[in-house]
Amino acid sequence: MAVATNGSPELLIVMATGATPDQTEHVLARLQEAGVDARVSRGRESTVIGAIGERELLATLPLEGYPGVEQVLPILKPYKLVSREVSPDPTVIEVDGRKIGDEYFGLIAGPCTVEYREQTLETARAVAAAGATWLRGGAFKPRTSPYTFQGLGEDALTILQEAREETGLPVVTELMDPRHVEAVLEAADVIQIGARNMQNFMLLAEVGRADKPVLLKRGPSASVEELLMAAEYVAREGNERIVLCERGIKTFERTTRYTLDLGSVAVLKHETHLPVIVDPSHAAGRRDLVLPLARAGAAVGADGIIVESHPNPEQALCDGPQQIPTAEFGEFAREVAQIAELLGKQIG
Ligand code: PEP
Ligand code: MN
Repeated sequence: MAVATNGSPELLIVMATGATPDQTEHVLARLQEAGVDARVSRGRESTVIGAIGERELLATLPLEGYPGVEQVLPILKPYKLVSREVSPDPTVIEVDGRKIGDEYFGLIAGPCTVEYREQTLETARAVAAAGATWLRGGAFKPRTSPYTFQGLGEDALTILQEAREETGLPVVTELMDPRHVEAVLEAADVIQIGARNMQNFMLLAEVGRADKPVLLKRGPSASVEELLMAAEYVAREGNERIVLCERGIKTFERTTRYTLDLGSVAVLKHETHLPVIVDPSHAAGRRDLVLPLARAGAAVGADGIIVESHPNPEQALCDGPQQIPTAEFGEFAREVAQIAELLGKQIG
């Protein structure tokens, strides 16, 4: 059978508003018989089938003639599985009942880096008390300088697990190296792919085969389309539980650490069904700007934020200037939640 091994959905089959479930099943059955992989999205307004296969194979099927089919369209965008065309309704990513996407605003918070047990537990308690959705914390750290603290590695994973046990918060941590995939998958509930690895295609494929959600950060020099193509690498392996994150890009501007590209959030919300969050901490690089950028992210329609907090930022081993003192985190969270609520979202 001429099944495309590297096929991507080439056609969108839009079912008529009044099409019956049987008619949709009929189309799916015909596609399956022909060896065409198909994915169905039953949206609020219409049912859409993405047909994955070689163009020639698809061309042999009289798709437009099947009962209930309204129209058949080519998918023009280079990203397919992550596009809104293929799945019109917003995706919600849920871990242990804690949700991000659509009406659920994700508050992902925690230390930049797991430094020691008490620092992490204290931060986890503070962000949990403030209503955080997931807990963040770096174990393997992508540092610009090889002479700076590189993270506690596997010891940090143990501390993060303890923090999850105590607070009940799902844990997000970064995977930098495919050799750590087993350890990170065992300890973490969500795997972070950091900005520097956004186009590490082997790593993307690796997490695409995992059965845990992925938090994929935009590379500082990557375009929106490149970010979506990176997400496509993950989705193509079967894992479509992806949260995208705008964390600032490199521009000529030096007053902030990176330039938070809020326009990209609006574009991403238009182009993809995946949740899109903002990282105001790494974008700002300084504490006093984290709240305004977080609020701006919420206002532009982001599905959440990922933000750093530390019991004593002055003593932090990494990113001290941008971390919010745990004592101030509750007030910070309240102020961001107010903006999210204006857009009809609640903290998930
Ligand atoms: C982080 O979130 O810990 C981090 C290192 O961020 P980024 O990959 O966006 O630089
Ligand atoms: Mn950091």
